Amino acid sequence: MPAYTPPLRDMQFLLHEVFKVTDEFKAIARHAEVDADTINAVLQEAGKFAAEVAFPLNISGDTEGCRLDQQTHEVTTPQGFKPAYAQFVEGGWAALSCDPAYGGQGLPLVLNQCLYEMLNSANQAWAMYPGLSHGAYECLHAHGTDEQKKLYLPRLTSGEWTGTMCLTEPHCGTDLGLLRTRAEPLPDGTYKITGNKIFISAGEHDFTENIVHLVLARLPDAPAGSKGISLFVVPKFKVNADGSLGERNPIYCTGLEHKMGIHGNATAQIAIDGAIGTLVGQPHKGLAAMFVMMNAARLGVGNQSLGLTEVAYQNALAYAKDRLQMRSLSGTKAKDKPADPIIVHPDVRKMLLTAKAYAEGARALQIFCTLLLDKAHSHPDENVRKDSDELVALLTPIVKAFITDNGHISTNACMQVFGGHGFIKEWGMEQFVRDNRINMIYEGTNTIQSLDLLGRKVLGNQGATLKKFGKLVAQLVEEEGVNEKMAEFINPIAYLGDQLPKFTTEIGLRGLQNPDEVGAAAVDYLRVAGHLVFGYFFARMAQVALREIAAGNQDPFYGAKLQTARFYFAKLFPETATLMRTARAGSQVVMDTDLALA
Ligand SMILES: Cc1cc2nc3c(=O)[nH]c(=O)nc-3n(C[C@H](O)[C@H](O)[C@H](O)COP(=O)(O)OP(=O)(O)OC[C@H]3O[C@@H](n4cnc5c(N)ncnc54)[C@H](O)[C@@H]3O)c2cc1C
Repeated sequence: MPAYTPPLRDMQFLLHEVFKVTDEFKAIARHAEVDADTINAVLQEAGKFAAEVAFPLNISGDTEGCRLDQQTHEVTTPQGFKPAYAQFVEGGWAALSCDPAYGGQGLPLVLNQCLYEMLNSANQAWAMYPGLSHGAYECLHAHGTDEQKKLYLPRLTSGEWTGTMCLTEPHCGTDLGLLRTRAEPLPDGTYKITGNKIFISAGEHDFTENIVHLVLARLPDAPAGSKGISLFVVPKFKVNADGSLGERNPIYCTGLEHKMGIHGNATAQIAIDGAIGTLVGQPHKGLAAMFVMMNAARLGVGNQSLGLTEVAYQNALAYAKDRLQMRSLSGTKAKDKPADPIIVHPDVRKMLLTAKAYAEGARALQIFCTLLLDKAHSHPDENVRKDSDELVALLTPIVKAFITDNGHISTNACMQVFGGHGFIKEWGMEQFVRDNRINMIYEGTNTIQSLDLLGRKVLGNQGATLKKFGKLVAQLVEEEGVNEKMAEFINPIAYLGDQLPKFTTEIGLRGLQNPDEVGAAAVDYLRVAGHLVFGYFFARMAQVALREIAAGNQDPFYGAKLQTARFYFAKLFPETATLMRTARAGSQVVMDTDLALA
């Protein structure tokens, strides 16, 4: 059976020592009173919930899965899931960072970020139910009418109801411009919605009385393609003006997908048979409104892989210290034992350090991004809000794709540490690999994220936002460039920070001649950019660690951080050279292959 210990020390290091969040909060009126003690207390309790309530249900939820009653269209979630959700709601966790105007606790999003990292380590399938609700809450908060806010936000905030995002249809996933679900205006200002959705996470369940579906559909006069999509809120049970539940809306779960992982989450096929909904935002501008939820979900998916990387690492580390196989190449280490623990073997250590480095880099990036979101939402200075918003938009595809790809590498490596036992169910390692696999696919596949980064967010604005991140790197290089102790951490990012704009221009120019050049380079490009971002955060973490050690701090945490950063720069970061080379190999070797792909 796997185990899980919430990584509170690393979270506190990032929040208090690297990003100094309470200093940042002082500038934000609604968070000005949030101090380190409050943050630590919340993290402690959140960790307890994750480890003691959600984690024990992870394997049983995977084994049992969800069940659909075809007659009633009701779904039963695995045993224990519903009471755990009730406890989550009772504890006020759903409301943690929601707006006090709707009953929320109004705490910063960075705390929600840490809460969800731990929930994802504990039980990704379970965490998706409240996680998606939070995305629906954010979308309605940003684009809902006053009436919609009044009816839905208090219930989503408390967790009394949950939310979903209904985009995908059988014939369209990536290309939502093809979607066919129809919305017919009714004289009373509501809409009658008809169509079929598939793959809807948490699309039906027994946690709550009502489910608030956010549905993309087309109005009768809609232009073709993605410019003709509107967004609707379609509750499972209609909601009366006084907030009480009305009659059942004909939006039914007609099937559950049998899938590779996240078995405890109901992935629903949904038939919408003339259900009544109301419009969210402007007609034909639904995709833009839905992007609030999709962007939140993209950051959330990165967080899922961070959670899985962390829990897989913790278990692989414990196993590697315990499992005895062979003797160390450099001489016996455990003389009192018949063989050495496998942690003495260089490649086992490399696998462990890979997962540890990818978890710690991801945690830094995720916390940085949510801190940007806190500033984008609530900072008094408009320029700070705008800059934060732009930077988080640039980093979102990196969070989604780089962290989930690294999660794949890491959970696989951690399973490998267990040898054959990793492949056997009882150790729980193969579940981490399976659960992580979807993270590379949903919320826009990682290929689509790379096109979003390179095509839209970098080339689309002539590298302006990329330059903003480049400035952060340049500032750090300037600050620490003369510090010899920092050279091993600063030199690689100084070099890559200098190369990336040239590399970008090169691909951009090729793309002007032939757009397939951008498509052929994008995935490699995102990984290069991801390493620059992780490298920047590892350098910042090393900077703090070195300062503490120089000041005489004996906590081994800082030495460990330096060793991890050193490993990262020596063994993982250098793949950027290969990636730039393969990106430069261009599109012809991919596209001029009709014989090979005949
Ligand atoms: C378990 C699960 C849960 C999900 N949850 C939800 C949910 O809650 N709500 C929801 O609406 N959807 C959900 N989805 C759907 C998910 O978001 C889609 O599966 C995903 O966006 C990909 O769409 P698709 O499956 O139709 O693949 P396709 O769009 O058919 O893509 C197939 C392949 O082609 C590639 N491709 C497509 N276009 C391009 C291009 N222009 N350039 C390069 N490559 C391209 C893709 O990257 C992919 O590799 C879920 C899916 C699963 C499996």
